[in-house]
Amino acid sequence: MKQIPTIPRSAQNTHKLATLLQTHKHWSESPDVLTRLTRRLSTTLSLEIQMGVLAEEMASVIPFDCMTYRHNIASRDFVYATGMGGPHRCDYRLNLEGQFYGSLTFSRKKRFTEKELEGIELILSAAICPIRNACMYITVEQAALTDSLTGVPNKRAMDDALERATSLGNRHGQEHSLILCDLDRFKAINDQHGHVVGDHVLQLAAKELQKAIRTSDEVYRFGGEEFAILLPQTNESDSRAVADRIRHFMSTIVVNCGESNIHVTTSCGVAMRLQDEDAGQWLARADEALYRAKAGGRNCTRVSAAIASN
Ligand code: GH3
Ligand code: MG
Ligand code: MG
Repeated sequence: MKQIPTIPRSAQNTHKLATLLQTHKHWSESPDVLTRLTRRLSTTLSLEIQMGVLAEEMASVIPFDCMTYRHNIASRDFVYATGMGGPHRCDYRLNLEGQFYGSLTFSRKKRFTEKELEGIELILSAAICPIRNACMYITVEQAALTDSLTGVPNKRAMDDALERATSLGNRHGQEHSLILCDLDRFKAINDQHGHVVGDHVLQLAAKELQKAIRTSDEVYRFGGEEFAILLPQTNESDSRAVADRIRHFMSTIVVNCGESNIHVTTSCGVAMRLQDEDAGQWLARADEALYRAKAGGRNCTRVSAAIASN
């Protein structure tokens, strides 16, 4: 019987390796737009960088004056726009496996030809998977920084924000203040009405806090029934006024529980960041002021003793 010659395993591997090196060279140096686009998009999970890459690669084959991408991700509007628009436009809704990943518009002075529209669709179909991944990454990142009960940023987000405020303060001398708000005798609400009602009160409290502050300020759920508000460019006396407004808004909460109504009061501790103070020291002073507000009978505001006397 005739024997079929077999290629030794080591020779097979050498051949496969040579092919791999060849393919990689082609993949990383290829002038082809689709290869370059997918390679560049796969290197990042930043939606903003991805949009920049998409605009650049698209423009290299299909000229346009303006590209706009819009998507509402994790309750926030993400908008990316490049250039100024023209009268002719084409719009795309990016969908993958039944999920929506934003809308894209290209516009320019000259009408898009059928061939160009076909080209745009090809490029978008190559970009959709990386765009989906970047959108999902934002959603997950946002969830990790959000308190699931109240929907406001959590302690982790607050720690990041305090660090950012601290370095801004050190570099540019910008004033920042911090208010800690703690609901008074909250344990009694849980004990008398149950945790579900307690949770509901916390949700209402977060809503009132957001109503009481300016858009430049941010509310964080700092702990169980404690919230923090970071106020950029706000001095001590203005922060005290905000704390008192917060206490007023919180006092308007009424939860009807059959025979009785639940009302809440709040104690606040305020601290303006001092020059060269780190985030931990700043937070500790706000906490100390809050402690004095509790010791002072609750339902009141105390300011850390940088300048104020109480
Ligand atoms: P004080 O005026 O001194 O702040 O008294 P307090 O009762 O508010 O404070 P304490 O620290 O004794 O109790 C806080 C309570 O908050 C106890 C805890 O069970 C409750 N709590 C913390 N997180 C949650 C939550 O997510 N949901 C509910 N329902 N209760 C919570
Ligand atoms: Mg409390
Ligand atoms: Mg507390």
